[in-house]
Amino acid sequence: MLPENEINRVLVVTAHPDDADFGAAGSVALFVDRGVEVTYLLVTDGDAGGNERELDNTGMAELRRTEQRTAAKAVGVTDVRFLGYSDGRVVPSLELRRDIARVIRQVRPDLVITHHPDRNYQFIAPSHPDHRAVGGAALDAVYPDARNPYAFPELVKEEGLEAWTVREVWLNGGSTPNHWVDITEAMDRKLAALQSHVSQVSHVEGFADFVRSRFAAWAEQAGFGEGHYAEGFQVVSTA
Ligand SMILES: [Zn+2]
Repeated sequence: MLPENEINRVLVVTAHPDDADFGAAGSVALFVDRGVEVTYLLVTDGDAGGNERELDNTGMAELRRTEQRTAAKAVGVTDVRFLGYSDGRVVPSLELRRDIARVIRQVRPDLVITHHPDRNYQFIAPSHPDHRAVGGAALDAVYPDARNPYAFPELVKEEGLEAWTVREVWLNGGSTPNHWVDITEAMDRKLAALQSHVSQVSHVEGFADFVRSRFAAWAEQAGFGEGHYAEGFQVVSTA
């Protein structure tokens, strides 16, 4: 694994608003505490989300962008970017790989955090098709696209974006996590971030308790002991 002092920039690539907050906001808060620059890249606006189901979902995309910016701020992240793909229709296309590779070359992160591209048969919730598509495209963007100057040559020729090698990827939501982050001191901020997604969670009774118990269970699995909270990732070396 990359030593802590070699992680100076982190790019979090997710499908929807609130994914980063469920999966990684505690770890992100701890990175920000250490002075790491963190960027969020959201592939969709989550315009198919929401509790008040109406056929006309006009305004949902903008509302969810605003909620995501608020959530990011709760853990100290101000660089939040959106690609504007349609919620529920994401595929790991060449276009998506190029769009993620572009941001990798702009941000030049040491570490990328994204969705696990494989279906989790133990726990289906993280395996939304958009998540798997984004995870796959992000990994392809890390290797080989972003580091290969001949992949999407227009990025160099037209935008002056030189090749960049991301050295590590943390995958969220898979069935084989091998790295646990003790997020106990950031748990309140993670919860605040999640509760910023008012259109998604404000109607869920006992939401705070549900979140705390979920991440406490992971801390137990990680062996951190009672009263702790944890986020889990599968670490992939991509150096
Ligand atoms: Zn999602």
